[in-house]
Formats: sequence, structure tokens, C-alpha cells
Amino acid sequence: MDIRFDGRRALVTGAGKGIGYELAKALAAGGAETFALSRTQADLDQLKAENPDIRTVCVDLADWAATRKAVEELGPIHLLVNNAAVLHCTTFMEIEEAEIKNTFDVNVHAVVNVSQVVAQGMIARGKGGAIVNMSSIGGRVALENVPSYCASKGAIEMLTKVMTRELGQHQIRINNVNPTVVMTAMGKKLWSDPAKSEPMMKRTPQRKFAEVKDVVHAVMFLLSDQSDMINGASLFVDGGVTAV
Ligand code: NDP
Repeated sequence: MDIRFDGRRALVTGAGKGIGYELAKALAAGGAETFALSRTQADLDQLKAENPDIRTVCVDLADWAATRKAVEELGPIHLLVNNAAVLHCTTFMEIEEAEIKNTFDVNVHAVVNVSQVVAQGMIARGKGGAIVNMSSIGGRVALENVPSYCASKGAIEMLTKVMTRELGQHQIRINNVNPTVVMTAMGKKLWSDPAKSEPMMKRTPQRKFAEVKDVVHAVMFLLSDQSDMINGASLFVDGGVTAV
């Protein structure tokens, strides 16, 4: 994608696999000094082997204090993508405390934690910045068997709006990206069974799921100056499946 981020410093969470992994590579290729954060060192080592310019941070986002310290140590960040998330497959009646706690710790609380540290620096420097929160079609549409995940993404939708209201005066833009199914490790966990994926595909006007690159392109656009007046938006990368 022909978008450059030279002179900017970018942080991507959940960059050890899937969308975050490719996003970190794309941002680095676009000239950003890129920090890839995840919790499995082997994944980060692999990313670093592919692009030695990428700097890696190994921390569990569910650990508030360790995460805060790790992000504070990075110095100025101009572009942030809160991409990491976990997904537990249960019914609503099966949700246990550990599941809902872990889901909200990683998918919501960590977004608050990391964004506070990054936004604090953006405010102090007075030059604005861009944040993308990775939501999902599940932030707007109730998907079966992932109740805590959908609730967490619904929380992200509103979190983005309140962040926009408060931080816009500092020229900090915050937007959501809402992908449909992408066959990453997370996507396969939920959609590998054709009995589930085929009806979903049939309901999708374009009759296909998203590729990682489709999501990466949407994020890159929202991080770039080309989307300068887009703030508090949710950009659906879903082939029209949520169109009503
Ligand atoms: P993956 O499961 O493929 O990758 C998620 C990454 O986040 C992994 O590197 C994982 O590390 C990391 N991560 C998870 N928990 C933590 C944690 N506690 N601390 C640090 N890192 C963590 O997911 P995707 O790439 O598919 O998803 C990326 C984003 O896109 C998510 O926000 C997801 O909700 C969203 N999305 C995905 C869709 C899909 O169909 N794939 C559809 C809609 C939205 P590790 O593996 O070591 O746990």
C-alpha cells in the first residue's frame, strides 16, 4: 500500500501472529519505526528474523502493571494499534469468571492501559497522533458461541467513541476497524467447521471472507494523514455481511 510513515514510531499489540504480525511488517515497510508487542517470545523472534528493524516487546497484556511499564519504556509513539485479543468459545450460560475476566483484561482493560500511556505522550508533545482499536463485526452483531468476546468488542466500540470525545482536542484520532472472518489462528478457532462457515459465507454479499491484507490496508489508511478528519468511526471490512 502506498502510504508512508517515515519519521513516525508505531506500536502494534498482538503482533506475534495473524493480523498484528502482518501489520507490524507493513508499518515497518512503510518507514515507521515499529514496535511489535505480544506474549510469546518465539513468535516475536520469528517476526524479528523476517524484519530485523522491528523492535519486539514480550509482555502479557493481562498484566496491567507489567504492560504499563513496558509501554512507558518505549518512548514516544505516534501510531498505536490495539490489535491483541482473545476469544473463548462458550455459550452465555457457560461463561465462567476466569473467561470473562481474561477476555475483558486483554480485549478492553489493556486497550485503556496502553492507550493512556501512549496518549499521555501524544498530549505532552502537542502534535497529535492516531490510534486504531481492533473491533470486529462481533462488536455490533451478536455472533453465536462467543458471548464474552462480542461483549468485549461492544465495549471497544463505545471506548473508541469516548476516547474520541476526550482526545480529539489534542488532534488524536481514534477509530475502529471491524473485520468479518479472517482465517488466522483466531478465525480458525471459530469458523473451521463448514457447518458454521458456509452459512456465514452465504450471508456475505461478496461471498468471501476477509484476507489479512484487507484488514491491514484499512488500518494503514486510518493511521495515515489521508484519513485526517475521520475520527470515532468504525470501518467495516466485512464484504457487506453487516449491511442491513
Ligand atoms: P490471532 O489469535 O491470530 O493473534 C492474536 C495475537 O494477539 C497473538 O499474537 C497473541 O499472542 C496476541 N495476544 C493475545 N493475548 C495476548 C496477551 N494477553 N498479551 C499479549 N499478546 C496477546 O488473532 P487475529 O490476528 O485473528 O486477530 C487480531 C485482531 O483482529 C483481534 O482484535 C481480533 O479480535 C480481531 N478480529 C479477528 C477476526 C478473525 O476472524 N480473525 C475477525 C474480527 C476481528 P499468543 O498467540 O501468544 O497468545
